[in-house]
Amino acid sequence: MENNYPWQTSRPFNAYSNHMRKRYPQRVQKLSVDAGFTCPNRDGTLSKGGCTFCSNDAFNPSYCRRHESIAVQIEEGIKFHSWRYKHVSQYLVYFQPYSNTYADLDTLKKVYRQALSHPSVIGLVIGTRPDCVDEKKLDYLAQLNEEYHIIVEYGIESCYDKTLALINRGHTFECTANAIEQTRKRNIETGGHIIFGLPGETKQEMLDQAKILSRLPVNSLKFHQLQILDNTPMMQDYLMNKDKYHLFGFEEYTDFIISFLELLNPQIVIERFASEVPPHYNVGKSWGKIRNEQIVQTIESEMLRRNTYQGRLYRP
Ligand code: SF4
Repeated sequence: MENNYPWQTSRPFNAYSNHMRKRYPQRVQKLSVDAGFTCPNRDGTLSKGGCTFCSNDAFNPSYCRRHESIAVQIEEGIKFHSWRYKHVSQYLVYFQPYSNTYADLDTLKKVYRQALSHPSVIGLVIGTRPDCVDEKKLDYLAQLNEEYHIIVEYGIESCYDKTLALINRGHTFECTANAIEQTRKRNIETGGHIIFGLPGETKQEMLDQAKILSRLPVNSLKFHQLQILDNTPMMQDYLMNKDKYHLFGFEEYTDFIISFLELLNPQIVIERFASEVPPHYNVGKSWGKIRNEQIVQTIESEMLRRNTYQGRLYRP
C-alpha cells in the first residue's frame, strides 16, 4: 500500500510534516506574531461583532503580544520553542490573529519586511480573510515568494453561504473560492481553515464539503471541531439554544474525520485535524487536556486499523 499513496509515505493521509520535509531536510518552526491588525468584521466596516465563534485570545500563544515589536515577538518565539526544538535554525513567521492583509499595501510591505529582515526567518504564513486580498497585494506576495516561502491561509470555515451568513462571516463561499484561485494562480502556497459542527449543518452537509474543497486549488487544510468559546456571540446563542448545536465528542469526531478524509482529494495536504483551546476558554464540550499529537495518533491508528486512507472514495 505504501507506494500507492500519492504522498509516498506509509501514513494514511497526506501529512503536512511530510510536505515540509520534501522542501526542507531540517525542521522549520512556525512562530506566531501579532502585528496589531484588526479585521473588517470587527472594526465596523462589515460589522462590529465579528464572526460569532471568534475569540482571537483563545488561539494566541502566550509569547505573542501585540504591544511588542515584531522583532521582539520573533525573539520571544524563538526562545519559547528552543527548549523543545533545540536544533531548529529556520523559522516561518506566522501572522496569526485577525486579518493580516487588512491594511494598505505600504503598511503591509513594512510589516512583512520587518519579519523577513530577521536572519533566521525564511518566510511568512499570512492568515487572513478571503475578502481582504486584492490583485496588488497578491502580486506583491508573489514577488516576495520568489525570494522567500510565502503561504497565505484563508479562513474558509464553511462552503455554505447559509452557514457563513448565520455565523456573521460577512463574505460568501464564492469570494473564498476566488481568493484561493487568485492566490494559487500566482504560485503562492495556499491553505484554508474549516470548522466542523457549525450550527445548521447536518453531518451529511459537512461531509459533502470534501467534494467541494477537493475541486479548489488549495494546497493544504486545517480542520477544527467547533468549540464554544467564552465571551463570544456564539456562546450567548449556545447557552439559550443548546439544541441547535451538535458538538462533536472525540470518538464521534474521529469517525467523522476519517469519513471526510476518504472523500477528500489526496493531493490536499492535511495540516491539522482538530485543536483544543485552553479549557478555561471552552464553555461547550471539552475533550479534556488532549494533546494534538494524541489526536493525530488516534485518527491515524484508526485509519490503519480500518485499512483506509485519504482519497479512498475520492472521485475527481
Ligand atoms: S474570525 Fe477572523 S474574520 Fe472573523 S471576526 Fe475573528 S478575526 Fe475577524
